[in-house]
Amino acid sequence: MSITENIHKIKETLPEDVTLVAVSKTKPETMIMEAFNAGHLDFGENKVQELTTKYENLPKTIHWHFIGHLQSNKVKYIAPFVHLIHAVDSIKLLQVIEKEAEKNNRTINCLLQIKISPEESKFGLAVDDAALLLESTEFSNLKRVQITGLMGMASYVENASIISDEFAYLKKQFELFKASYFYDEPGFSTLSMGMSGDYLLALKQGSNMIRIGSSIFGERQYP
Ligand SMILES: *Cc1c(COP(=O)(O)O)cnc(C)c1O
Repeated sequence: MSITENIHKIKETLPEDVTLVAVSKTKPETMIMEAFNAGHLDFGENKVQELTTKYENLPKTIHWHFIGHLQSNKVKYIAPFVHLIHAVDSIKLLQVIEKEAEKNNRTINCLLQIKISPEESKFGLAVDDAALLLESTEFSNLKRVQITGLMGMASYVENASIISDEFAYLKKQFELFKASYFYDEPGFSTLSMGMSGDYLLALKQGSNMIRIGSSIFGERQYP
């Protein structure tokens, strides 16, 4: 199947309020253009250098999602154009994003990454630490960073009930955070969870943004 067909097949199954982020990391610009020409606008990358190169070469109407672990010293390269940063996990990083947003005279939308899996490889904040962050003076001083929701990655396991429980936990925390910290901010509305292998489970648990790579572009090959 072609990239266009893959995207249509996934979109057919999605409720209207769910955003599909096509994860194009490691994939060539020609593939992104195929999806773009079929009307797709949201793409996800996890390396700053790769993202900035693609941004420079491709149509400026694309919404670029940064989905990887972001180092503070690299924020400046994506700050002028990034649509959404998915994996923010510290106040330090938010403060750098604030500074770069100000330089670019824009607001930058971010999701807090919550650790929902016990796996060592997964980044993210424990829920309690995320709550402390949101209650801190440092956070209340930020003017150009907009927290628009939460993001999480489930364990890489076969067992669907483990994955579903992790997603359900994140959905519950999302609702609690919305009620506690964002009750007067409708902008807090995005729950980014679900990848190729587990997005159907994520949707059942209330995800409204899924990040799909291999099911659209094929398996990735790393050199
Ligand atoms: C690579 C990646 C994805 C997409 O993974 P697939 O299994 O190819 O769909 C989603 N989210 C993050 C954070 C990723 O790094």
